[in-house]
Amino acid sequence: MSPVAFACRSNGGSCEWTVETDSNEGILQPFAEHQKCAYHVPVLSDVQRHQVAAPIRSV
Ligand SMILES: [Zn+2]
Repeated sequence: MSPVAFACRSNGGSCEWTVETDSNEGILQPFAEHQKCAYHVPVLSDVQRHQVAAPIRSV
């Protein structure tokens, strides 16, 4: 599986947070943590989960 990257910006965020991992699932966990710490969003909504899957690009 090729590595993928996800930027908070591509989810509408305003910071420089990014994650690189080797699967879409690997993005959800750290992104959920980031939403919790940075935006005080305790859990990802279904809409956010959907958005996480959409803008992923291969690196
Ligand atoms: Zn952010």
